[in-house]
Amino acid sequence: MKLDTICVQGGWTPQKGEPRVLPIVQSTTFKYDNSEQMARLFDLEDSSYFYTRLANPTTDAVARKICALEGGVGAMLLSSGQAANFFAIINICQAGDHVVSSSTLYGGTFNLFAVTLKKYGIETTFVNPEASDAEIQAAFRPNTKALFGETISNPGVEVLDIEKFARIAHRNGVPLIVDNTFATPINCRPFEWGADIVTHSTTKYMDGHATSVGGVIVDSGNFDWDANAERFPGLTTPDESYHGLTYTKTFGRNAFITKATVQLMRDLGSTPSPQNAFLLNLGLETLHLRMPRHCSNALAVAQWLEQQPEVKWVSYPGLKSSPFYERAQKYMPSGSCGVIAFALNGTNDDAIAFIDRLKFIAIVTHVADARSCVLHPASHTHRQLSPEQLRAAGVAPDLIRLSVGIEDPSDIIADLDQALHCAR
Ligand SMILES: *Cc1c(COP(=O)(O)O)cnc(C)c1O
Repeated sequence: MKLDTICVQGGWTPQKGEPRVLPIVQSTTFKYDNSEQMARLFDLEDSSYFYTRLANPTTDAVARKICALEGGVGAMLLSSGQAANFFAIINICQAGDHVVSSSTLYGGTFNLFAVTLKKYGIETTFVNPEASDAEIQAAFRPNTKALFGETISNPGVEVLDIEKFARIAHRNGVPLIVDNTFATPINCRPFEWGADIVTHSTTKYMDGHATSVGGVIVDSGNFDWDANAERFPGLTTPDESYHGLTYTKTFGRNAFITKATVQLMRDLGSTPSPQNAFLLNLGLETLHLRMPRHCSNALAVAQWLEQQPEVKWVSYPGLKSSPFYERAQKYMPSGSCGVIAFALNGTNDDAIAFIDRLKFIAIVTHVADARSCVLHPASHTHRQLSPEQLRAAGVAPDLIRLSVGIEDPSDIIADLDQALHCAR
């Protein structure tokens, strides 16, 4: 099936007499006839539902849809995008391990890597994603377990050279993990360019209506854990918590996502609610219609902003003036995303005054939904970061993040125009 059809039909194929619409299985638990049946489930000898912390029919159906959209072998929904990136890393890293990551990251991910994971003994070296192959290579250590990046960085909207990152990761025997939140599989499918694991904050375009916080991990099934067995003992040696089962032996190409589900979700429980999965599915049913509109609206707004004398700079991968234009044409030829980064001439106070004058473009700690919204990362999402960390994360202090919605583009431009006009 093509992507547009998967958006509408994927994940749930009702049989005779079953609901046409994906049902919300709002049940913590599932009934069996005898103790033997239940025991086999706990030993992973049978796969069926027994407790919603591990798996639930509604969330599984939505995971199957996203898995098909990304072209993976398995996927797992989580309660947030933060949980998705956390689980993707700790599924293969433990205390004493190391990660190399692009420095241009969502603020929450940067904090997770720089502060919280470090407290648990997992260290991250941040690299400028535009640095040379040799410079990025120099960040690798014998204990490095993954390379991480965002296909389009939040909030800098810089496009990752996925093939370069995949080449470096694989040369070092580690997977490339890519956060594909902003591009979505409608615009970019990182597995086709060599990424091994994809994560998303489904809170953004996938949900699309700002109703439900959620995340997902998708496994391409392509990374050969056994070929690098000594580096990934969690996947390639027996798990004592399952009577000595070895994930790569028992689950083959599904080893990564199975371990994440049966071990990490069991022990850490960042479980999405079936109700939220249902709402996410409603969003996914129109993702293929919304993304092109976000992109065409954002391009029109970016081109308009570029012509305003009050505007200092505009960063949008769809602009011919963008240093990422050619790369975006390669990796996401039908469009990048609806997010624009720009700055005004004048002081930070001028930028904040401009934002305060906007009418329906709302100030919200959110991005990438149907309604246009705006944020000043240096004073909002990224305010925990030091000036050097801000620079490294691609967040200029004057950067305004504008998330262009799917309203009529002339109304969006009119709102920006009136807010700029007052500033004159
Ligand atoms: C929002 C976001 C996250 C975090 O996701 P939550 O759903 O808010 O936990 C991670 N990565 C990117 C790129 C994001 O935009």
